[in-house]
Amino acid sequence: MSNPLYDTLLGPRSQSDKVFLHLPAGDVVSYAAFVGRVSQFANALSDLGLQPGERVALQVEKCPDALALIFGCIQAGVIFLPLNTGYTPDEVRYFVENSGARVLVCDPSRAEVLGVVAAGYDAGCETLGPEGGSLAIRADAAPTTAPVAQRTGEDLAAFLYTSGTTGRSKGAMLSQNNLLSNALTLVDLWRFTGDDVLLHALPIFHTHGLFVATNVILAAGASMVFFPKLDADALIDWMPRATSLMGVPTFYTRLLDNPRFDGDMARNMRLFISGSAPLLAETHRLFEARTGHRILERYGMTETNMSTSNPYDGDRRAGTVGLPLPGVEAKVCDDTGSELPRGEIGGLEVRGPNVFQGYWQMPEKTAAELRDNGFFITGDLTVMDADGYVTIVGRGKDLIISGGFNIYPKEIEELLDAQPGVLESAVVGVPHPDFGETPVAVLVPLPDQVPDLEAVGAEVSARLARFKHPRHMELIDTLPRNTMGKVQKAALRERFAGLFS
Ligand code: ATP
Ligand code: MG
Repeated sequence: MSNPLYDTLLGPRSQSDKVFLHLPAGDVVSYAAFVGRVSQFANALSDLGLQPGERVALQVEKCPDALALIFGCIQAGVIFLPLNTGYTPDEVRYFVENSGARVLVCDPSRAEVLGVVAAGYDAGCETLGPEGGSLAIRADAAPTTAPVAQRTGEDLAAFLYTSGTTGRSKGAMLSQNNLLSNALTLVDLWRFTGDDVLLHALPIFHTHGLFVATNVILAAGASMVFFPKLDADALIDWMPRATSLMGVPTFYTRLLDNPRFDGDMARNMRLFISGSAPLLAETHRLFEARTGHRILERYGMTETNMSTSNPYDGDRRAGTVGLPLPGVEAKVCDDTGSELPRGEIGGLEVRGPNVFQGYWQMPEKTAAELRDNGFFITGDLTVMDADGYVTIVGRGKDLIISGGFNIYPKEIEELLDAQPGVLESAVVGVPHPDFGETPVAVLVPLPDQVPDLEAVGAEVSARLARFKHPRHMELIDTLPRNTMGKVQKAALRERFAGLFS
């Protein structure tokens, strides 16, 4: 094969008039039309002088052309780095500098300011958006066939930067095989076929919407409804014509909050998948009660694509992220990498064809997180039960060490979440002169309710050891979350940093 990703995902369907994308307004993009557009972008990139292995930074709104550009990079052998559309020009500067991108593609509305950023690193600046742009004009003028760059499975396809939840984003170098092996495994595991129609409302700058959702659909030769962003009403409108949904937990709470959403809408659906952030067991239960469907939760990271999943057949256990994927080894370890007995909490390490090639230009970080034996230290604290199901207890960086004792925020959060009037909560460690760190809790009330903090405190005292009691609790309207629904605990720690000092 000359280019495994292209040859598997696009090549075989270059003549197919099957629908690849349904656009919410009713238009469709066939596979043949998409593959042609991909080639036009591959030609446009080559015309700009880009060579295989060089980088292109993309900060573009979700639209069919943005997707065609990404696959145009794959066809041309150019490494692409898709960037969160919420990043400010200052943030984009870091990615352009760190990646050594030769071209930055941005929305036409940002061309002026990002053109200056790109010029600062001798990079070109092109524009692309739902209404077009300079790169779309170049593509329009290019042939709809293009040479397919020779790439091996080991060649890099993308730098995907981590979400930056725990610190500065790191550029995870992902090879063609990292992406392809994971997509093929997931098609099989989740039983995707050409008959599937996926509701796609995720961003395409993150592993979830791009490498999980899009690559799975392409590998299966299926179709997707391509929403510009999450709109619960639009999802509901399309659901009777769809078979599957991949979402972050917020998608499911939004659907449940929508009075139009009843079980009948999901009659044609065969699979609801959740990931990127923990799905509350309560959401799982409510969703099943409303629709009869048990949400399938899975777990992954920018660096590893997907690593574990609840089974398609068999027991989908709420609150767990399921079993290691076929071909992926996962073990719960102590700090030295020795596997712990089942039932003990430790760091999750994973190895397999899904695991990335290291962090771009961060050799120390790569050495610290990727062991010589190929296991990647995920940084997530987990426990594995006797059947091999993995539960995420929290991130290692969110572990609270108070007076020498380990406190897992999730244990306290689960108790707080179950109190009357409480929707959800977050517990973080903040500096304390006597204990080093101590837990602080914020609680989000259920709609129109006011939790009694004194009663909550009494319940905590009755149930948890004294060192785990939050020294401070307060109500908050919503938890600070990023676009993937991840709670930003660093922001909470900062907010309460001075509370006891
Ligand atoms: P950074 O590494 O820059 O701090 P990040 O880890 O948030 O950012 P991502 O790679 O987008 O960036 O997220 C991976 C993390 O998301 C995992 O390490 C895990 O903590 C969390 N995660 C993913 N899926 C789940 C899930 N189903 N349940 C709980 N946590 C999940
Ligand atoms: Mg991470």
